[in-house]
Amino acid sequence: MTATIIDGRAVARRMQAEIQTGADQVASRLGRRPGLGVVLVGDDPASAMYVRMKQRACERVGIQSSASLLPASAAQAEVENAVRAFNDDADIDGILVQLPLPDSIDEEAVLNEISLSKDVDGIHPVNLGRLGMRGRNPTFTPATPTGVMRLIAESGIELSGKEAVVIGRSNIVGLPIALMLTNADATVTRCHSRTVDLPMVTRRADIVVAAVGQPELVKADWLKPGAVVIDVGSNSLPDPTSDKGYRYVGDVDFEQARDVAGWLTKVPGGVGPMTITMLLANTLKAAQA
Ligand code: NAD
Repeated sequence: MTATIIDGRAVARRMQAEIQTGADQVASRLGRRPGLGVVLVGDDPASAMYVRMKQRACERVGIQSSASLLPASAAQAEVENAVRAFNDDADIDGILVQLPLPDSIDEEAVLNEISLSKDVDGIHPVNLGRLGMRGRNPTFTPATPTGVMRLIAESGIELSGKEAVVIGRSNIVGLPIALMLTNADATVTRCHSRTVDLPMVTRRADIVVAAVGQPELVKADWLKPGAVVIDVGSNSLPDPTSDKGYRYVGDVDFEQARDVAGWLTKVPGGVGPMTITMLLANTLKAAQA
């Protein structure tokens, strides 16, 4: 079997064209563009790069973004004040706090400050709690997990009653993906670093989502033939043949998995573009509310 590749870039392009139209409509209705406020604390190069990518994407679709850039030495109150300033700013519809925050900052206290109606990253503890409770609706769901669900939908697989395995249980990726798959009526197993026999668990899955941060961990013989495999991992490996000296690989061994999986995402070009797109979509939704 050769897997059908789910092209995250193509899905993201289609969605961003629709978001651009929506942003133009908001601009003519409100007399201002949808607005995203970004809080970045510290000088972690990867976080700074993610923020730049998100701001460029905003520009492309006609969403205005402003950033509060604080030094790693910022006090707790300064970070919380940056969030509150965006809460009070009528031109800002959505707030993104770029994680991780420095160790000196109480992350939960900062996230608690985000107004629920502006929580476009779906990361406020109340929104995450609602995602996990029957019959409750979060105002927004987190960007990466929402992007993963959208890519699974591209495969056309009916999730109800299917076996899904999520590898990784972080608050921003693994946990919400598992909740969203459960809400879609899949039977979900959550694996993590203490799972004893990971391949045995993944082999029974119709859907595998890998969100681990271990290069090419998932091998061909871990997969049920025909499975939908979504690779969230983004790991840089040294590569002297590349201009940059490194290349990105996922948590799934792509070359092996493509012979067994039914559907498969690429790294780069799979979940990454969807994460940004879902943030844009949520910001537009907040402006339309
Ligand atoms: P994290 O480090 O917070 O969590 C990793 C999880 O994997 C943990 O729950 C841990 O228990 C589990 N784990 C670690 N080693 C394991 C092993 N050998 N077997 C089974 N489980 C194991 O990471 P995260 O923030 O959830 O990110 C996961 C990956 O997704 C990273 O590569 C990250 O760069 C990537 N990511 C990509 C996007 C995107 O938009 N493409 C967004 C967020 C994260």
